[in-house]
Amino acid sequence: MSCVIHWFRDDLRLADNMALSTAAAQAHVSGKPLLPVYVQDPAQAQATRWLPQRMGPHRQAWLAGSLQALDAELQARGSRLLVLIGSPATVLPALASATQALTVHAEDCPAPDEAAQAELIAQAVQAWGCSLHLHGQSTLLPLTALPFAPADLPDVFSTFRQLVEHAGTQAREPWPSPHALPPVPEQALPWLDLAVTAPTATPDARSSFPFHQPACAPGERSAQAHLAQYMARQLPHSYKATRNGLSGLDFSSKFSPWLATGALSAAQIMAALRAFEADHGVSDGSYWLWFELLWRDHFRLLHLKHGKALYKAAGLSKLPEPSHNAAAFQRWCDGQTGEPLVDAGMREMAATGWLSNRMRQIVASYLIHDLACDWRAGAAWFEHCLIDFDVYSNQGNWLYVAGRGTDPRGGRRFNPDKQTREHDPDGTYRRLWGTA
Ligand code: FAD
Repeated sequence: MSCVIHWFRDDLRLADNMALSTAAAQAHVSGKPLLPVYVQDPAQAQATRWLPQRMGPHRQAWLAGSLQALDAELQARGSRLLVLIGSPATVLPALASATQALTVHAEDCPAPDEAAQAELIAQAVQAWGCSLHLHGQSTLLPLTALPFAPADLPDVFSTFRQLVEHAGTQAREPWPSPHALPPVPEQALPWLDLAVTAPTATPDARSSFPFHQPACAPGERSAQAHLAQYMARQLPHSYKATRNGLSGLDFSSKFSPWLATGALSAAQIMAALRAFEADHGVSDGSYWLWFELLWRDHFRLLHLKHGKALYKAAGLSKLPEPSHNAAAFQRWCDGQTGEPLVDAGMREMAATGWLSNRMRQIVASYLIHDLACDWRAGAAWFEHCLIDFDVYSNQGNWLYVAGRGTDPRGGRRFNPDKQTREHDPDGTYRRLWGTA
Protein backbone atom coordinates (compact mmCIF):
# COMPACT_ATOMS: atom_id res chain seq x y z
CA MET A 1 0.00 0.00 0.00
CA SER A 2 1.53 3.35 -0.95
CA CYS A 3 0.21 6.88 -0.45
CA VAL A 4 0.79 10.58 -1.06
CA ILE A 5 1.94 12.71 1.89
CA HIS A 6 1.13 16.36 2.55
CA TRP A 7 3.58 17.76 5.07
CA PHE A 8 1.98 20.77 6.81
CA ARG A 9 4.52 23.45 7.73
CA ASP A 10 3.44 27.13 8.00
CA ASP A 11 0.28 26.41 5.97
CA LEU A 12 -2.19 25.09 8.58
CA ARG A 13 -5.30 25.57 6.41
CA LEU A 14 -7.27 23.71 3.76
CA ALA A 15 -8.38 26.63 1.57
CA ASP A 16 -5.86 28.42 -0.66
CA ASN A 17 -3.38 25.63 -0.11
CA MET A 18 -1.88 24.74 -3.47
CA ALA A 19 0.46 22.16 -1.93
CA LEU A 20 -2.41 20.32 -0.21
CA SER A 21 -4.72 20.56 -3.26
CA THR A 22 -1.96 19.19 -5.51
CA ALA A 23 -1.28 16.34 -3.09
CA ALA A 24 -5.01 15.54 -2.91
CA ALA A 25 -5.35 15.61 -6.70
CA GLN A 26 -2.36 13.29 -7.12
CA ALA A 27 -3.77 10.86 -4.53
CA HIS A 28 -7.16 10.96 -6.24
CA VAL A 29 -5.79 10.34 -9.75
CA SER A 30 -3.52 7.51 -8.62
CA GLY A 31 -6.21 5.98 -6.38
CA LYS A 32 -3.95 6.25 -3.32
CA PRO A 33 -4.70 7.49 0.20
CA LEU A 34 -3.51 10.90 1.34
CA LEU A 35 -1.62 11.25 4.60
CA PRO A 36 -1.59 14.79 6.07
CA VAL A 37 1.19 15.11 8.62
CA TYR A 38 2.67 17.76 10.90
CA VAL A 39 6.03 17.23 12.58
CA GLN A 40 6.66 18.86 15.95
CA ASP A 41 10.38 19.37 16.35
CA PRO A 42 11.55 18.98 20.00
CA ALA A 43 14.37 21.42 19.18
CA GLN A 44 11.71 24.14 19.48
CA ALA A 45 11.43 23.44 23.21
CA GLN A 46 15.19 23.35 23.78
CA ALA A 47 17.75 25.98 24.76
CA THR A 48 19.41 28.28 22.24
CA ARG A 49 22.51 30.48 22.50
CA TRP A 50 20.33 33.23 24.01
CA LEU A 51 17.52 31.56 25.93
CA PRO A 52 16.78 28.40 27.93
CA GLN A 53 13.78 27.63 25.69
CA ARG A 54 13.18 28.56 22.08
CA MET A 55 9.35 28.51 21.89
CA GLY A 56 7.52 29.99 24.88
CA PRO A 57 4.16 28.97 26.41
CA HIS A 58 1.91 31.36 24.43
CA ARG A 59 3.33 30.20 21.11
CA GLN A 60 3.08 26.56 22.16
CA ALA A 61 -0.56 27.04 23.13
CA TRP A 62 -1.37 28.90 19.89
CA LEU A 63 0.29 26.20 17.80
CA ALA A 64 -1.41 23.36 19.68
CA GLY A 65 -4.80 25.05 19.19
CA SER A 66 -4.02 25.58 15.50
CA LEU A 67 -3.22 21.87 15.04
CA GLN A 68 -6.40 20.82 16.83
CA ALA A 69 -8.44 23.15 14.62
CA LEU A 70 -6.72 21.80 11.51
CA ASP A 71 -7.47 18.21 12.54
CA ALA A 72 -11.15 19.13 13.01
CA GLU A 73 -11.26 20.65 9.49
CA LEU A 74 -9.58 17.57 8.03
CA GLN A 75 -12.03 15.27 9.83
CA ALA A 76 -14.95 17.24 8.39
CA ARG A 77 -13.62 16.28 4.94
CA GLY A 78 -12.98 12.62 5.67
CA SER A 79 -9.32 12.91 6.59
CA ARG A 80 -7.17 13.25 9.74
CA LEU A 81 -3.98 14.94 10.85
CA LEU A 82 -1.06 12.78 11.90
CA VAL A 83 1.18 14.62 14.37
CA LEU A 84 4.65 13.20 14.82
CA ILE A 85 7.35 14.33 17.23
CA GLY A 86 10.95 14.53 16.07
CA SER A 87 13.25 16.26 13.65
CA PRO A 88 11.44 16.52 10.28
CA ALA A 89 14.66 15.51 8.51
CA THR A 90 14.54 12.14 10.32
CA VAL A 91 10.84 11.58 10.90
CA LEU A 92 9.53 12.37 7.42
CA PRO A 93 11.83 10.05 5.45
CA ALA A 94 11.02 7.27 7.97
CA LEU A 95 7.29 7.90 7.49
CA ALA A 96 7.62 8.08 3.72
CA SER A 97 9.54 4.81 3.75
CA ALA A 98 7.07 3.03 6.08
CA THR A 99 4.10 4.08 3.94
CA GLN A 100 5.95 3.71 0.59
CA ALA A 101 4.93 7.26 -0.27
CA LEU A 102 4.99 8.23 -3.93
CA THR A 103 5.47 11.93 -3.24
CA VAL A 104 5.70 14.34 -0.32
CA HIS A 105 4.13 17.75 -1.01
CA ALA A 106 4.85 20.78 1.21
CA GLU A 107 4.96 24.55 1.32
CA ASP A 108 8.31 26.02 0.36
CA CYS A 109 9.86 27.79 3.38
CA PRO A 110 12.99 29.60 2.19
CA ALA A 111 14.47 30.46 5.63
CA PRO A 112 17.91 28.78 5.94
CA ASP A 113 17.04 26.14 8.60
CA GLU A 114 13.78 25.21 6.91
CA ALA A 115 15.41 25.06 3.47
CA ALA A 116 18.21 22.82 4.82
CA GLN A 117 15.61 20.51 6.39
CA ALA A 118 13.77 20.18 3.07
CA GLU A 119 17.03 19.48 1.24
CA LEU A 120 17.87 16.61 3.63
CA ILE A 121 14.38 15.15 3.24
CA ALA A 122 14.52 15.42 -0.56
CA GLN A 123 17.84 13.55 -0.61
CA ALA A 124 16.70 10.86 1.83
CA VAL A 125 13.41 9.98 0.10
CA GLN A 126 15.05 9.87 -3.33
CA ALA A 127 16.66 6.57 -2.28
CA TRP A 128 13.43 4.65 -3.03
CA GLY A 129 12.13 6.82 -5.85
CA CYS A 130 9.93 9.13 -3.76
CA SER A 131 10.22 12.89 -4.31
CA LEU A 132 9.63 16.05 -2.29
CA HIS A 133 7.65 18.76 -4.12
CA LEU A 134 7.87 22.25 -2.60
CA HIS A 135 5.18 24.80 -3.48
CA GLY A 136 5.92 28.53 -3.22
CA GLN A 137 2.63 29.81 -1.81
CA SER A 138 3.33 31.98 1.23
CA THR A 139 3.87 35.30 -0.53
CA LEU A 140 1.08 37.60 -1.62
CA LEU A 141 2.58 38.19 -5.06
CA PRO A 142 3.20 35.17 -7.28
CA LEU A 143 6.97 34.76 -7.68
CA THR A 144 6.49 34.26 -11.44
CA ALA A 145 4.71 37.63 -11.78
CA LEU A 146 7.43 39.76 -10.16
CA PRO A 147 8.86 42.45 -12.45
CA PHE A 148 12.42 41.30 -11.61
CA ALA A 149 14.29 38.05 -10.93
CA PRO A 150 14.54 37.19 -7.18
CA ALA A 151 18.30 37.87 -7.34
CA ASP A 152 17.57 41.43 -8.55
CA LEU A 153 15.11 42.26 -5.76
CA PRO A 154 15.69 45.87 -4.64
CA ASP A 155 16.92 45.82 -1.03
CA VAL A 156 15.11 49.09 -0.29
CA PHE A 157 11.41 48.52 0.34
CA SER A 158 10.19 51.72 -1.41
CA THR A 159 12.01 50.81 -4.63
CA PHE A 160 10.53 47.30 -4.48
CA ARG A 161 7.01 48.66 -3.88
CA GLN A 162 7.27 51.23 -6.66
CA LEU A 163 8.46 48.59 -9.17
CA VAL A 164 5.60 46.27 -8.19
CA GLU A 165 2.98 49.01 -8.36
CA HIS A 166 4.34 50.43 -11.59
CA ALA A 167 4.25 46.98 -13.21
CA GLY A 168 0.68 46.48 -11.91
CA THR A 169 1.63 43.18 -10.26
CA GLN A 170 -1.45 41.71 -8.60
CA ALA A 171 -1.88 39.40 -5.63
CA ARG A 172 -2.25 35.70 -6.29
CA GLU A 173 -5.85 34.42 -6.58
CA PRO A 174 -6.68 32.10 -3.66
CA TRP A 175 -7.21 28.41 -4.37
CA PRO A 176 -10.60 26.94 -3.42
CA SER A 177 -10.97 24.70 -0.39
CA PRO A 178 -11.24 20.95 -1.17
CA HIS A 179 -14.78 19.68 -0.39
CA ALA A 180 -13.56 16.19 0.38
CA LEU A 181 -10.16 14.61 0.81
CA PRO A 182 -8.92 11.08 0.10
CA PRO A 183 -8.86 8.90 3.24
CA VAL A 184 -5.70 8.41 5.27
CA PRO A 185 -3.87 5.07 4.75
CA GLU A 186 -5.29 2.30 6.99
CA GLN A 187 -1.79 1.54 8.13
CA ALA A 188 -1.58 5.05 9.68
CA LEU A 189 -4.84 4.78 11.68
CA PRO A 190 -3.19 3.45 14.88
CA TRP A 191 -0.72 6.34 14.83
CA LEU A 192 -3.41 9.01 14.82
CA ASP A 193 -4.22 8.86 18.50
CA LEU A 194 -1.20 10.91 19.42
CA ALA A 195 -3.12 13.78 20.98
CA VAL A 196 -1.75 17.29 20.56
CA THR A 197 -1.22 18.53 24.09
CA ALA A 198 -1.97 22.18 24.66
CA PRO A 199 0.32 23.64 27.31
CA THR A 200 -1.22 26.17 29.63
CA ALA A 201 -0.74 29.83 28.81
CA THR A 202 -2.58 31.85 31.41
CA PRO A 203 -5.11 34.23 29.79
CA ASP A 204 -4.63 37.92 30.60
CA ALA A 205 -7.72 40.11 30.41
CA ARG A 206 -5.56 43.06 29.29
CA SER A 207 -4.52 41.31 26.07
CA SER A 208 -4.98 43.09 22.74
CA PHE A 209 -5.34 39.68 21.13
CA PRO A 210 -7.21 37.50 23.66
CA PHE A 211 -6.76 34.21 21.87
CA HIS A 212 -8.51 32.24 24.60
CA GLN A 213 -11.76 33.87 23.47
CA PRO A 214 -13.71 32.46 20.49
CA ALA A 215 -13.25 35.60 18.34
CA CYS A 216 -9.47 35.19 18.42
CA ALA A 217 -9.27 31.40 18.55
CA PRO A 218 -6.63 29.59 16.51
CA GLY A 219 -7.50 27.90 13.23
CA GLU A 220 -8.84 28.57 9.76
CA ARG A 221 -12.50 28.95 10.74
CA SER A 222 -11.83 31.73 13.29
CA ALA A 223 -9.40 33.38 10.86
CA GLN A 224 -12.10 33.55 8.18
CA ALA A 225 -14.68 34.84 10.68
CA HIS A 226 -12.22 37.52 11.83
CA LEU A 227 -11.45 38.57 8.27
CA ALA A 228 -15.17 38.76 7.41
CA GLN A 229 -16.07 40.88 10.45
CA TYR A 230 -13.07 43.17 9.85
CA MET A 231 -14.38 43.93 6.36
CA ALA A 232 -18.07 44.04 7.40
CA ARG A 233 -17.27 46.68 10.04
CA GLN A 234 -15.37 48.65 7.38
CA LEU A 235 -12.23 48.74 9.50
CA PRO A 236 -9.89 49.01 6.48
CA HIS A 237 -11.06 52.63 6.07
CA SER A 238 -9.76 53.61 9.51
CA TYR A 239 -6.64 51.39 9.44
CA LYS A 240 -4.09 54.03 8.44
CA ALA A 241 -5.25 56.45 11.13
CA THR A 242 -5.33 53.88 13.95
CA ARG A 243 -2.49 51.46 13.10
CA ASN A 244 0.00 53.04 15.52
CA GLY A 245 -2.24 52.35 18.51
CA LEU A 246 -0.90 50.42 21.48
CA SER A 247 -3.90 48.62 22.99
CA GLY A 248 -7.17 47.01 21.95
CA LEU A 249 -8.39 44.67 19.23
CA ASP A 250 -9.37 47.00 16.40
CA PHE A 251 -6.55 49.54 15.99
CA SER A 252 -4.73 47.16 13.65
CA SER A 253 -5.99 44.18 11.68
CA LYS A 254 -4.66 41.41 13.98
CA PHE A 255 -4.23 39.16 10.96
CA SER A 256 -0.68 38.28 12.00
CA PRO A 257 -1.28 35.36 14.44
CA TRP A 258 -3.27 33.46 11.80
CA LEU A 259 -0.84 34.43 9.03
CA ALA A 260 2.01 33.04 11.12
CA THR A 261 0.58 29.51 11.32
CA GLY A 262 -0.85 29.79 7.83
CA ALA A 263 -4.46 29.45 9.05
CA LEU A 264 -4.96 32.54 6.88
CA SER A 265 -3.06 33.46 3.72
CA ALA A 266 -2.05 36.89 2.47
CA ALA A 267 -3.84 36.10 -0.82
CA GLN A 268 -7.09 35.46 1.07
CA ILE A 269 -6.75 38.81 2.85
CA MET A 270 -6.13 40.62 -0.44
CA ALA A 271 -9.11 38.95 -2.13
CA ALA A 272 -11.33 40.10 0.76
CA LEU A 273 -9.80 43.58 0.66
CA ARG A 274 -10.37 43.96 -3.10
CA ALA A 275 -14.00 42.84 -2.65
CA PHE A 276 -14.33 45.38 0.18
CA GLU A 277 -12.93 48.14 -2.05
CA ALA A 278 -15.34 47.19 -4.84
CA ASP A 279 -18.26 47.62 -2.40
CA HIS A 280 -17.08 50.51 -0.23
CA GLY A 281 -14.46 52.32 -2.29
CA VAL A 282 -10.69 52.64 -2.04
CA SER A 283 -9.27 54.73 0.82
CA ASP A 284 -5.90 55.58 2.32
CA GLY A 285 -6.63 52.94 4.94
CA SER A 286 -7.47 50.13 2.52
CA TYR A 287 -4.38 51.01 0.42
CA TRP A 288 -2.21 50.92 3.55
CA LEU A 289 -3.15 47.31 4.29
CA TRP A 290 -1.83 46.32 0.85
CA PHE A 291 1.26 48.43 1.60
CA GLU A 292 1.90 46.52 4.85
CA LEU A 293 1.36 43.15 3.19
CA LEU A 294 4.00 44.19 0.67
CA TRP A 295 6.42 44.66 3.59
CA ARG A 296 5.68 41.07 4.56
CA ASP A 297 6.45 39.91 1.01
CA HIS A 298 9.62 42.01 0.85
CA PHE A 299 11.03 40.31 3.96
CA ARG A 300 10.24 36.90 2.45
CA LEU A 301 11.78 37.76 -0.91
CA LEU A 302 14.93 39.06 0.81
CA HIS A 303 15.48 35.48 1.95
CA LEU A 304 15.53 34.25 -1.66
CA LYS A 305 18.20 36.83 -2.45
CA HIS A 306 20.36 36.95 0.69
CA GLY A 307 19.63 33.65 2.53
CA LYS A 308 22.03 32.98 5.41
CA ALA A 309 23.55 36.48 5.31
CA LEU A 310 20.38 37.71 7.04
CA TYR A 311 21.32 35.58 10.06
CA LYS A 312 24.90 36.82 10.47
CA ALA A 313 25.72 39.34 13.22
CA ALA A 314 26.47 42.00 10.58
CA GLY A 315 23.39 41.14 8.52
CA LEU A 316 23.72 42.93 5.19
CA SER A 317 26.04 45.59 6.64
CA LYS A 318 29.80 45.74 7.16
CA LEU A 319 29.39 46.68 10.83
CA PRO A 320 31.47 44.88 13.48
CA GLU A 321 29.97 42.24 15.82
CA PRO A 322 27.44 43.98 18.11
CA SER A 323 28.22 44.42 21.80
CA HIS A 324 26.10 42.57 24.36
CA ASN A 325 25.20 42.94 28.02
CA ALA A 326 23.56 39.81 29.41
CA ALA A 327 22.32 41.51 32.60
CA ALA A 328 20.71 44.39 30.69
CA PHE A 329 19.16 41.89 28.25
CA GLN A 330 17.60 40.00 31.17
CA ARG A 331 16.18 43.22 32.65
CA TRP A 332 14.73 44.05 29.23
CA CYS A 333 13.09 40.60 28.94
CA ASP A 334 11.67 40.98 32.45
CA GLY A 335 10.28 44.48 31.83
CA GLN A 336 12.60 45.89 34.50
CA THR A 337 14.78 48.36 32.61
CA GLY A 338 13.44 51.39 34.50
CA GLU A 339 12.16 52.98 31.28
CA PRO A 340 8.36 52.91 31.85
CA LEU A 341 7.16 52.72 28.24
CA VAL A 342 9.65 49.99 27.32
CA ASP A 343 8.87 48.01 30.48
CA ALA A 344 5.15 48.24 29.77
CA GLY A 345 5.67 46.78 26.29
CA MET A 346 7.92 43.99 27.51
CA ARG A 347 5.45 43.05 30.23
CA GLU A 348 2.60 43.00 27.73
CA MET A 349 4.50 40.74 25.34
CA ALA A 350 5.52 38.27 28.07
CA ALA A 351 2.03 38.21 29.58
CA THR A 352 0.01 37.89 26.37
CA GLY A 353 2.20 36.74 23.44
CA TRP A 354 1.29 39.81 21.42
CA LEU A 355 2.58 43.39 21.00
CA SER A 356 1.65 46.29 18.71
CA ASN A 357 3.98 47.23 15.86
CA ARG A 358 4.77 50.59 17.46
CA MET A 359 5.79 48.98 20.74
CA ARG A 360 7.86 46.36 18.87
CA GLN A 361 9.81 49.18 17.27
CA ILE A 362 10.27 51.03 20.56
CA VAL A 363 11.44 48.04 22.62
CA ALA A 364 13.72 46.74 19.83
CA SER A 365 15.32 50.15 19.42
CA TYR A 366 15.82 50.45 23.18
CA LEU A 367 17.59 47.09 23.42
CA ILE A 368 19.93 47.86 20.55
CA HIS A 369 20.59 51.59 20.79
CA ASP A 370 20.13 52.33 24.51
CA LEU A 371 21.15 49.08 26.22
CA ALA A 372 23.85 48.25 23.62
CA CYS A 373 22.75 44.62 23.34
CA ASP A 374 23.00 42.18 20.43
CA TRP A 375 19.96 42.45 18.15
CA ARG A 376 19.98 38.65 17.71
CA ALA A 377 19.20 38.21 21.42
CA GLY A 378 16.18 40.50 21.01
CA ALA A 379 15.03 38.62 17.92
CA ALA A 380 15.31 35.37 19.91
CA TRP A 381 13.14 36.79 22.73
CA PHE A 382 10.48 37.85 20.20
CA GLU A 383 10.65 34.36 18.71
CA HIS A 384 10.09 32.92 22.19
CA CYS A 385 7.13 35.16 23.04
CA LEU A 386 5.15 36.19 19.97
CA ILE A 387 2.27 33.99 18.86
CA ASP A 388 2.62 35.66 15.43
CA PHE A 389 6.34 34.86 15.23
CA ASP A 390 7.30 34.76 11.57
CA VAL A 391 10.97 34.16 10.92
CA TYR A 392 11.06 36.37 7.79
CA SER A 393 9.31 39.43 9.27
CA ASN A 394 11.06 39.09 12.61
CA GLN A 395 14.54 38.81 11.14
CA GLY A 396 13.91 41.60 8.61
CA ASN A 397 12.48 44.04 11.16
CA TRP A 398 15.21 43.43 13.73
CA LEU A 399 17.92 43.93 11.10
CA TYR A 400 16.13 47.08 9.98
CA VAL A 401 16.02 48.64 13.47
CA ALA A 402 19.66 47.60 14.06
CA GLY A 403 20.83 49.30 10.85
CA ARG A 404 22.13 45.96 9.59
CA GLY A 405 19.39 45.27 7.09
CA THR A 406 17.53 47.25 4.48
CA ASP A 407 16.92 50.64 6.09
CA PRO A 408 18.34 53.23 3.68
CA ARG A 409 18.85 55.53 6.70
CA GLY A 410 21.07 52.89 8.38
CA GLY A 411 18.90 52.04 11.41
CA ARG A 412 16.65 53.95 13.73
CA ARG A 413 16.64 54.92 17.36
CA PHE A 414 13.19 55.62 18.79
CA ASN A 415 13.52 58.19 21.56
CA PRO A 416 11.46 56.77 24.48
CA ASP A 417 10.50 60.24 25.81
CA LYS A 418 9.24 61.39 22.41
CA GLN A 419 7.42 58.08 21.85
CA THR A 420 5.79 58.38 25.26
CA ARG A 421 4.60 61.92 24.52
CA GLU A 422 3.22 60.89 21.13
CA HIS A 423 1.71 57.50 21.88
CA ASP A 424 0.94 57.38 25.60
CA PRO A 425 0.56 61.03 26.63
CA ASP A 426 -1.86 60.37 29.51
CA GLY A 427 -0.13 57.20 30.74
CA THR A 428 -3.07 54.84 30.04
CA TYR A 429 -0.84 52.19 28.50
CA ARG A 430 1.87 52.40 31.16
CA ARG A 431 -0.74 52.20 33.94
CA LEU A 432 -2.30 49.12 32.29
CA TRP A 433 1.05 47.33 32.59
CA GLY A 434 1.94 48.73 36.00
CA THR A 435 4.87 50.96 35.03
CA ALA A 436 3.34 54.39 35.71
P1 FAD B 1 -1.36 45.29 10.76
O1 FAD B 1 -0.77 46.58 11.11
O2 FAD B 1 -2.83 45.19 10.72
O3 FAD B 1 -0.77 44.89 9.32
C1 FAD B 1 -1.39 43.91 8.47
C2 FAD B 1 -0.37 42.86 8.11
O4 FAD B 1 0.69 43.47 7.37
C3 FAD B 1 0.29 42.19 9.29
O5 FAD B 1 -0.49 41.14 9.81
C4 FAD B 1 1.59 41.72 8.68
O6 FAD B 1 1.43 40.54 7.96
C5 FAD B 1 1.92 42.84 7.69
N1 FAD B 1 2.83 43.80 8.32
C6 FAD B 1 2.52 44.93 8.97
N2 FAD B 1 3.65 45.55 9.39
C7 FAD B 1 4.69 44.79 9.00
C8 FAD B 1 6.09 44.88 9.15
N3 FAD B 1 6.68 45.92 9.76
N4 FAD B 1 6.84 43.89 8.64
C9 FAD B 1 6.29 42.83 8.02
N5 FAD B 1 4.97 42.70 7.84
C10 FAD B 1 4.17 43.66 8.33
N6 FAD B 1 5.35 40.57 12.21
C11 FAD B 1 5.07 39.25 12.20
O7 FAD B 1 4.07 38.85 11.59
N7 FAD B 1 5.85 38.35 12.86
C12 FAD B 1 6.97 38.73 13.54
O8 FAD B 1 7.68 37.87 14.12
C13 FAD B 1 7.28 40.12 13.58
N8 FAD B 1 8.37 40.58 14.28
C14 FAD B 1 8.64 41.94 14.31
C15 FAD B 1 9.76 42.39 14.99
C16 FAD B 1 10.04 43.76 15.07
C17 FAD B 1 11.28 44.24 15.79
C18 FAD B 1 9.16 44.67 14.47
C19 FAD B 1 9.42 46.15 14.56
C20 FAD B 1 8.06 44.23 13.76
C21 FAD B 1 7.78 42.87 13.65
N9 FAD B 1 6.68 42.39 12.93
C22 FAD B 1 6.43 41.04 12.88
C23 FAD B 1 5.87 43.29 12.07
C24 FAD B 1 4.61 43.88 12.71
O9 FAD B 1 4.90 44.41 13.97
C25 FAD B 1 3.46 42.89 12.81
O10 FAD B 1 3.28 42.23 11.57
C26 FAD B 1 2.14 43.56 13.18
O11 FAD B 1 2.28 44.30 14.37
C27 FAD B 1 1.07 42.50 13.35
O12 FAD B 1 -0.14 43.05 13.77
P2 FAD B 1 -1.36 43.19 12.76
O13 FAD B 1 -1.62 41.91 12.07
O14 FAD B 1 -2.47 43.79 13.51
O15 FAD B 1 -0.71 44.19 11.70
